[in-house]
Amino acid sequence: MLRIGRFEVYSVVTGTFRLDGGAMFGVVPKVLWGNATDFDEQNRIYLATRTLLVLDRQAKRVILADTGCGTKWTPEKAERFAIRHDREAIPRALAAIGLCIEDVTDVVVTHLHFDHNGGLTKWFDDPGGRTVLCFPRARHWIHRRHWEHAHKPSVKDRASFLPEDFAGLEEAGVLAFVEGDQPAPAIAGIEWFVSQGHTVYHLHPVVADGGEHLIFVGDLVPTVAHLRLGWVMAYDLFPLTTIAEKEVIFRNAIEHGWRLAFAHDTKVGGVALGGTVERPIVTQTLDL
Ligand SMILES: [Zn+2]
Repeated sequence: MLRIGRFEVYSVVTGTFRLDGGAMFGVVPKVLWGNATDFDEQNRIYLATRTLLVLDRQAKRVILADTGCGTKWTPEKAERFAIRHDREAIPRALAAIGLCIEDVTDVVVTHLHFDHNGGLTKWFDDPGGRTVLCFPRARHWIHRRHWEHAHKPSVKDRASFLPEDFAGLEEAGVLAFVEGDQPAPAIAGIEWFVSQGHTVYHLHPVVADGGEHLIFVGDLVPTVAHLRLGWVMAYDLFPLTTIAEKEVIFRNAIEHGWRLAFAHDTKVGGVALGGTVERPIVTQTLDL
């Protein structure tokens, strides 16, 4: 557990999966990325799905950011990405601090790629049938422009969106849209950082209290290996924008002490940075 002012912050590993190393590192050749991370016989690198759990005991708010791949996978499709989702991970993490699923007040949907928010819904009964919400009592925060994009994705990114992951959210009345390029905070102590490089209107929660900041970097910096400024994913819609946004985050980390929480690193929940924006170095691994 990490304290950011009054907040308690945890990084919950909800599962593991693997993605093609070439896709994860864009133009970086395997002779370089192969030395920076482990990979399997199909050149897939090992990734975790991490949920950020933020607890504000004073305000009685229990906030999750992202929910993992979820359980709506046939064995064949799961095998393509070696998806293993632990459906008990979030309930277990909540139980360890005396809470349960019904206590979750807010879910921050950073974006709707299946490896981030397949866990918003589950099959009610039969696979392929009706879905139900996994966090029915929580408000679900998502940027309105990303919500619109997810319903009309491009040819390049449409494979990352599975409609059954977010079907039913609107009808259930749980959606809370974040609006604009520099949205005002909607939850006390949670600021928004909006990025455009990986996907349109990727929403990053920034836990901020007492002069301390922790940003959930999502798919801008998926793993420790992606701390290299130019190492960006082929999945990104606008890679040069990703680099510019990484510069902003690294500058905040180096000059203002912002800490980073990862979405996909298998070993490390988060880091503090030193060095330079061009070459950041990890000064501390966070105990999240
Ligand atoms: Zn993504």
